[in-house]
Amino acid sequence: MNYQRSTEIISPIMSTVTRRSPMATGRISEATGALSVVDIYVTSYLIPTNDDETEFVAVDGGLDHNAYNINQALNRRGHSLRKVVAFVLTHADPDHTGAIHQLGSDIPVYSSQKESDVLDGKSPSECLLKSSVARVSKLMSPIVEGVKAEVITADDVIKIGQLTIRPISLPGHTGGSLGYAISRDHRKSRWDIFPGDALEFRRNGNATRAAKVVSANITDAEQSIVHLDDVIDAEGYRNGKVWPGHSGPGDISAIKAYRQILQRQRQ
Ligand SMILES: [Zn+2]
Repeated sequence: MNYQRSTEIISPIMSTVTRRSPMATGRISEATGALSVVDIYVTSYLIPTNDDETEFVAVDGGLDHNAYNINQALNRRGHSLRKVVAFVLTHADPDHTGAIHQLGSDIPVYSSQKESDVLDGKSPSECLLKSSVARVSKLMSPIVEGVKAEVITADDVIKIGQLTIRPISLPGHTGGSLGYAISRDHRKSRWDIFPGDALEFRRNGNATRAAKVVSANITDAEQSIVHLDDVIDAEGYRNGKVWPGHSGPGDISAIKAYRQILQRQRQ
């Protein structure tokens, strides 16, 4: 079966349906020096682990041919694919695991226990079970073989090179979704936040949760926005931006504004 072909056919349809227009591939973040790698409607991120930018940690793996896109992005900066030294996974939906299935047997992959089980083929994604949109997207990135992840929780801190990577538990879109606060030099309090699909930004800059149709549990998804805002305040994450899986970036302050909208709706 030609999976590449199914991707070419379905991806433009998904892009139209979701009306998303991610940013262009390239350097995006002043705080961490992250690069975006955009594949039609989903973005993975490459964050340099040192000042020379010789090694990178990837947040998520995109669609099934995304190792090619990552390689292209690094080649343009004079690097090659082997310079990706680890993946941190927000969740194991197939539009986020493409390059991980291609490369994850050689490179450490960090994820929550629940998403690790999906990545490994032990359990199906909750989102895929629930959503017809997501079931269609599964056609784009069939799991070729299971990948073993190193399981992490929100209590862990991952240090790779100059990077400090702190997981944040954000269930809702999927049961085991993690976001990550990442800093190249945490002493300067410059943190970028990578929420995966827990959050996205509208064109006017307002934050919103992922659509109901692609969320496993909408109550949890909304509670995760409140939790994310609490963690941002408690840990002092600032001076960076928020980089979602399916939209352009937004301001950290927009999360608090959205939290207040959610709380008003509950009253
Ligand atoms: Zn996604």
